[in-house]
Amino acid sequence: MKVVVPAEHHQGERRVALVPEAVVKLIKLGLEVAIQDGAGLTANQDNNAYLAAGATIVSTSDISKALSSADVVASVRPLDPAVGKTLKSGAVTLSFLSPTNNPDEIKALSAAGVTALSFDLVPRISRAQSMDALSSQALCAGYRTALIAAERSTKFFPMLMTAAGTVQPAKVLVLGAGVAGLQAMATARRLGAVVSAYDVRASSADEVKSMGATFINLNLETLEGAGGYAREMGEDRAKAQQDALKPFISESDVVITTAAIPGRKAPLLVTASMVENMKPGSVIVDLAAESGGNVEGSIAGQDVLLPTAGGDVTVIGCKDLASQLSVHSSKLYAQNVVSLLTLITTEGEVNADPSDEVVAGSAVVFAGDVRNAMARETLGLQPLAKDGE
Ligand code: NAD
Repeated sequence: MKVVVPAEHHQGERRVALVPEAVVKLIKLGLEVAIQDGAGLTANQDNNAYLAAGATIVSTSDISKALSSADVVASVRPLDPAVGKTLKSGAVTLSFLSPTNNPDEIKALSAAGVTALSFDLVPRISRAQSMDALSSQALCAGYRTALIAAERSTKFFPMLMTAAGTVQPAKVLVLGAGVAGLQAMATARRLGAVVSAYDVRASSADEVKSMGATFINLNLETLEGAGGYAREMGEDRAKAQQDALKPFISESDVVITTAAIPGRKAPLLVTASMVENMKPGSVIVDLAAESGGNVEGSIAGQDVLLPTAGGDVTVIGCKDLASQLSVHSSKLYAQNVVSLLTLITTEGEVNADPSDEVVAGSAVVFAGDVRNAMARETLGLQPLAKDGE
């Protein structure tokens, strides 16, 4: 059975779904692997490295034909709908595929009779940890946010005692203590900053402390949802949080925001009025800028200036963070792909079992049926009847 990896089509995407070491593992599983000519170059993987690993290279002029006969298509971003509709019935796609943000692609995959497994939806159970691309890529993104903050800050992160005087360490506040936030804290700590953090899940306090950061307790209702995720907050709760956070933001040199709610627009955590007492020259790094933004007015891929009494604060809207670390983010992602493919491959045959919790959880579309509830809602389809109804 053949696994095909097309070049990523999304502008700014530098990752590739399989790296050569992952190709070796898939060939051991009994699969064939074909890579589009040059697909790995932005992650420093050239055609020769793939050939040496046992893959074949498909020229760009032949990639449509290869995709339409592929048994598995692995990509990082969702395929273009025009490609999705050409896949053969029974093929399996592995990629990030948000059930709410890709209605055209989901319709195309459904019409083609494809099984589309999404890394956005892999259940967070211990058996599936090696398939958890949300975590592997959030790790890369969180690390980058701290480096961007350090680079753009007008202050040192570490405390320095020099002949010319003592420099106090930068104060970094991280909002959101999921995988990305914890990695941002760890990285800022390694650079010597004094780090504090807040998350709506009170249970994250111990993890924050284990990163060497201080957990800020705002004495507000905790918002733990299913599966360890946060719940969406109502307007009153959001306002109370914003008021309570304002003094902590005022005294920070750097704020890094990493908050997300699965399947929803990122929550607004920092409004323009909350930064008015920050010191001019401070920076806010918004990891969530691409998914709606945690900071009022932030724009993905751009700097936005917010006024304070003495000057401006720079809001950096992050874009393609994991791609900025394309070698390692691709290596980790490729291992996630290998792990998920291993789960659904027996003796060289790919056969996803819908009764498997990981397959059922991650299938946006199974054999042409749109199975995911959020995707069905987005497409205006009736909810599926639950067992026994
Ligand atoms: P995420 O990307 O969904 O969200 C990032 C963080 O933002 C979360 O910690 C969330 O609580 C926080 N947040 C949401 N709204 C907020 C608000 N209004 N203010 C402040 N913070 C807010 O998170 P994630 O990195 O995917 O992790 C989510 C959960 O899953 C965590 O509990 C994490 O420990 C857990 N997890 C489990 C596994 C596993 O068991 N295999 C793997 C990874 C993560």
